Amino acid sequence: MIPAFFNSIVTLITRTSVDLPPDVRRAMRDALGREIPTSSGGQALAIIAENIDQAVEAEGPICQDTGMPTFEVKVPVGANQIWMEARIREAVAEATRRGKLRPNSVDSITGRNSGDNLGPGTPIVHFEQWERDDIEVKLILKGGGCENTNAQYALPLDLPHLGRADRSLEGVRKCILHAVWQAQGKGCSPGAVGVCIGGDRTSSYLHAKQQLFRTLDDVNPDERLAALEAQVMSTVNTLGVGPMGFGGDVSLIGCKVGAQNRLPASFFVSVAYDCWAFRRLGVVLDAGTGEITQWLYRDGDRPSQPMFEPGTVGFVRSGHERVLTTPLDEATVRSLKVGDVVMVNGRMYTGRDTVHHHLMAHEPPVDLRGGVIYHCGPVMVKEGEGWKMVAAGPTTSIREEPYQADVIARYGVRAVIGKGGMGAKTLTALAQHGAVYLNAIGGAAQFYARTVKAVDGVSLLEFGVPEAMWHLTVADFPAIVTMDAHGHSLHKDVEQASGEKLDLLAKV
Ligand code: SF4
Repeated sequence: MIPAFFNSIVTLITRTSVDLPPDVRRAMRDALGREIPTSSGGQALAIIAENIDQAVEAEGPICQDTGMPTFEVKVPVGANQIWMEARIREAVAEATRRGKLRPNSVDSITGRNSGDNLGPGTPIVHFEQWERDDIEVKLILKGGGCENTNAQYALPLDLPHLGRADRSLEGVRKCILHAVWQAQGKGCSPGAVGVCIGGDRTSSYLHAKQQLFRTLDDVNPDERLAALEAQVMSTVNTLGVGPMGFGGDVSLIGCKVGAQNRLPASFFVSVAYDCWAFRRLGVVLDAGTGEITQWLYRDGDRPSQPMFEPGTVGFVRSGHERVLTTPLDEATVRSLKVGDVVMVNGRMYTGRDTVHHHLMAHEPPVDLRGGVIYHCGPVMVKEGEGWKMVAAGPTTSIREEPYQADVIARYGVRAVIGKGGMGAKTLTALAQHGAVYLNAIGGAAQFYARTVKAVDGVSLLEFGVPEAMWHLTVADFPAIVTMDAHGHSLHKDVEQASGEKLDLLAKV
């Protein structure tokens, strides 16, 4: 029995979800200074920076996808790990109830959301004994969008644009570059990568993720790996993927590489991609009381340094934005071009994986003609009879690629909002039916929650909070046209241009 243990874990979860650590803030401040403020990438970073400050102010999740809670716990010899794991699980459920974590644990067979982030394999808790008398708990919250962009390579192999990747550090370098390139904006760039050379398939991924517990500005104690990290960081940003995959000068804010012994026949390179919302913190606890004696990854007890001076806003309107009011008509939508910044007003409906699958066999519960579908799985808190939206950024749209064209054609949807872009089938449907894809800024969950003026209702709540169809009224919701009704796709263009840059980097 350690009296304060439960409260300390709830505090750790809360702070991890709402307050980015100083090393990540420094990297994002540096990124902000490197992009042209009026460019799409610059505007995206301004919204992200504003969102980082808003999350602290509101004590709300930085991003609505609070990810898979992963705890690394070090305990003194003889500590009761069974008791601690039970309290950690209770703390996760409590943080979920308070709206600091989104309910993210879904039965893989039935699709049922447990509602409290508990279930087989959730949360992930790893214990290790050490010779010290205190307890160390580290936590990382890594969301699904960036998790889906992880990559594992079995060397030797041939990589598009980069050629042969041999079983050498040069081969590893090529794998890292390929992973960053193929992620484009889907993992909410600029991101950071944890890399493992070696291990087996499972231990390799685990070790890659563990690299993300290093600070972005540390130096690898292994000189060979330090040189590799430096080499990647000195060239990777010439790729031009840029913030959110819009193109630009900052694609990656960190590269951390570790190595594990391997079998002679295997040579795996695993890349764990984390987004800009790089939520990782830790605490040291008194083993007798459970009180927090020290925060890890923070500058002592000093409060976080805001991204902007008080009273300054990040996203500044240029005056050239197109104001859209729903429902949208075909002529308005066809007048939009890739690169236009729009401010959306009126009704939109959230819909992601389960809703899109549902719409293949069922009529929509609302009239979607002229409507806007927002790929978003929000964090919601029940307030009396109603609901309060706590966090509401976009989710990765490409998952809906098998369905989106049919949904647009059948139900007359005029705009789809998400992040990371969509594929050729959707692009064709946009042109055929007069619709548009709008890229909102991934992870900017607090920023977008503030544009929601009312939660007017909800359909399909049986799918769980993130997957339900929420009826929202928004005002001045900014997004960028990245796929238009004329067959143009910024995502396709950036992927092609950055692929050509990969050709050059293969020879560096
Ligand atoms: S910032 Fe983007 S990739 Fe990261 S958790 Fe949020 S939605 Fe997912």
